[in-house]
Amino acid sequence: MSKLQPARGTRDIFGDEARSMTAVVETFRKVATTYGFEEMATPIFEFTEVFKRPLGEASDVVSKEMYTFEDRGGEEITLRPEFTAGVCRAFISNGLQQHLPCRLMSWGPVFRYERPQKGRYRQFHQINAELLGPETPEFDVDMIALAWSLLKALGLGDKVVLNLNTLGDIESRMAYRDALVSYFEGFKDKLSEDSVRRLTTNPLRILDSKDEGDKLLVANAPLLSEHLNDHSRQFFETVCKGLDAVGVPYEHNERLVRGLDYYTHTAFEFITTELGAQGTVLAGGRYDGLIEKLGGPKVAGIGWAGGIERLAMLSNIVTDAERSIVLVPMGEAGTLKAFTVADDLRTAGHVVTADRSGNLGKRLTRAAKANARYAIIIGDDDVAAGTAMLKDLDSGEQSSVAFDALVAAVKA
Ligand code: ATP
Ligand code: MG
Repeated sequence: MSKLQPARGTRDIFGDEARSMTAVVETFRKVATTYGFEEMATPIFEFTEVFKRPLGEASDVVSKEMYTFEDRGGEEITLRPEFTAGVCRAFISNGLQQHLPCRLMSWGPVFRYERPQKGRYRQFHQINAELLGPETPEFDVDMIALAWSLLKALGLGDKVVLNLNTLGDIESRMAYRDALVSYFEGFKDKLSEDSVRRLTTNPLRILDSKDEGDKLLVANAPLLSEHLNDHSRQFFETVCKGLDAVGVPYEHNERLVRGLDYYTHTAFEFITTELGAQGTVLAGGRYDGLIEKLGGPKVAGIGWAGGIERLAMLSNIVTDAERSIVLVPMGEAGTLKAFTVADDLRTAGHVVTADRSGNLGKRLTRAAKANARYAIIIGDDDVAAGTAMLKDLDSGEQSSVAFDALVAAVKA
């Protein structure tokens, strides 16, 4: 029988990788807390409409990547392909507009039907931050500064570059859309099939095309910056000035468009050259119409998501497992005594396991192999005498220590 494998694009996460992914999440929570963020956990699945409406039928995510199914009650359900739509749904469902601005952080698994490769999976994990409130460019600065602080805390400050762009407000985008369509209409016979379709569904997405022929045409396409109205231009200038003030370096990338329909004004991606084609580690933008599109109040928002697998891979923070204390009870009284010794040591914050099988030598070898810090040998005679044998596995020294002095002894 062949080995039982997980489903395509899914993986089991353990050992070093599990520890570094946890470290990414913990660093995120710590840093985001200092920016006033609070935890929001939304369900892993939602009614399909929650994603379909805001992301747009023409987006890659909705048209090709969603895990959608009918449940036993006949409801149309989708496994979340991103956090923003679900968090905004939760914002509306719970009447949180009474508490603006809302700063919400989340993390967990995300599902997209993609072609799996290194750094690209069908179940992956994201950290996510959303700031819901009035449409002010200073919030965009706060959000990007938060991302930058996190990346620095992960030791990635000089491994990533911030690509920044503005998509303008709806009016500017409409004007630009028209300019793009009339430009690309002239090259319809040279455009890829996908991009011909995008001409009617979402022309901005052509700028993002991976097709080599399309890329040549995109190089001479009109620029969005030429179609920004005053409001959009000022908005972007304020964001740039704020970033200069906080000291976040960025590159203005006029070709940066994001894949989802709901973005307006600020769009950004932190990109690394170290992960090949999977170079975007954290990305986001402003989505002023999204909450209304979901049927909520007129509240603007800006957010971003980071891929935990990619961040963990890049940052290489292999946090070593904490070194343990191994109890080695010999005999019946020793075995019972070991339970209370373990309890005392754990209460003091130590990692404690007991090894109860094999002879003494075997157990000590096993403890050393597992990189344990101490072994504590508890024989029946020891129990009678009120002491244990504490063995320092680094120095090899051992000494007899009274039970009630053990906690202090391992600390020293
Ligand atoms: P890409 O261009 O790589 O497909 P995306 O634009 O689809 O990324 P977003 O929707 O912005 O990605 O998601 C935010 C982050 O989540 C990405 O920057 C990336 O780090 C991570 N991510 C996205 N898709 C995957 C995936 N299939 N597997 C692992 N990580 C992913
Ligand atoms: Mg994608």
